[in-house]
Amino acid sequence: MTCGTNGKTTTNNLLCSMLEAQGFRVVSNRLGANMVEGVAAALATAAKGPLGYLAVGYLAAAKGPLGYLAADFACLEVDEASAARVLQDLHPDFMILTGLFRDQLDRYGEIDLTMKALEKAILEAPDMTLVINGDDPLTAYLAKKSAHRIVSYGVNEKVTGDVDVIREGRFCENCGAPLQYDFYHFSQLGVYRCPSCGFGRPEIDYAAYGVRLSPQLSFDIQKINSAPVRISAPMTGFYNVYNILAVFSVLREMKLSTEMFSEVLSSFKPQFGRGEIFHVGEKRRQKVLLNLAKNPAGFNQNISAMLQDRSPKDLIIVINDNAQDGRDVSWLWDVDFDRLADETIRSITVSGLRALDMQLRLKYVDIKSERAPDVEKAIDERLADGCENLYVLVNYTALYEAHKYLEGLEK
Ligand SMILES: [Zn+2]
Repeated sequence: MTCGTNGKTTTNNLLCSMLEAQGFRVVSNRLGANMVEGVAAALATAAKGPLGYLAVGYLAAAKGPLGYLAADFACLEVDEASAARVLQDLHPDFMILTGLFRDQLDRYGEIDLTMKALEKAILEAPDMTLVINGDDPLTAYLAKKSAHRIVSYGVNEKVTGDVDVIREGRFCENCGAPLQYDFYHFSQLGVYRCPSCGFGRPEIDYAAYGVRLSPQLSFDIQKINSAPVRISAPMTGFYNVYNILAVFSVLREMKLSTEMFSEVLSSFKPQFGRGEIFHVGEKRRQKVLLNLAKNPAGFNQNISAMLQDRSPKDLIIVINDNAQDGRDVSWLWDVDFDRLADETIRSITVSGLRALDMQLRLKYVDIKSERAPDVEKAIDERLADGCENLYVLVNYTALYEAHKYLEGLEK
């Protein structure tokens, strides 16, 4: 089971691909339907037996005798708020916690409420191994409070030089004192300890060293007392180091092979709209990168990845405030948009239901932007201008539309 605010779809799908590459049959909710219904549907679809497919509740599907799963593993991503319900019926051997960031404020209230719901679910769950992002003090504290076995992964060196000002979670969850950091990676992630109560970053079982972010990701994974394994992947973005670390850690803990790791990574397709690249226009010379950016941590990471690309580019940002996005877009004020004042960015176009909020946010840091009525128009205009390097950053409900349009242009 994979849980956490950022990166769970990529992590869970990569884990599925790794298991499938070893010949296992895997049940999963690959498309990211990660609420209770989506998890139930994934299991019910894979259910066989006397009532088989009719055993629609995952209770029956998972527990029999009404049905059974024709699979070796179930590999499920579960929304934090659904974890409590899902953990009542499903008892995973491993639960990956990718990290806890401010996300979709409207649906669950502040991060504290999410933390509490998830904490309760994890504390009450039967024995399992928690595979956690040890660089995140929120996750590490939650895991430590539980009696579960903990395996942690993290990045042991300073990689990015970003100045990043999100402050949530930088106080000790145990005693409230400000945490001390040797360095940050982004948001609250880094090497930290509490000077007051002794809480701190756990010993890291699977650590990344020698991280290179371009031209593609590569780094060593070092497990305590064993030889490092060099990983390379046709991906960009520092956050993918964590996604890969999580999957590697779980496979090793399951005593499964990691030999095919780089091979699977080399053909791994980022799922729907996560860093997806489209080649469009005459001779497919125009490159468009589409990415989901739905909260400050995700957005700041997108900005970092984009600025690592030093060629000229245009940028489109689409912000909606439909129910799935969260009605409250005040999180835009927590994103470091001042970093978009970069010489490689030729133009910025904003669109979506909250285009005006976005434009105001940029204006506040002295950055000019244009407004387009919809994402199709925005993309058309930039491509007609001859843009050969276009970045499209969208939040949740704008993703489908943008994806469909770009897919059409590519054909
Ligand atoms: Zn403390």
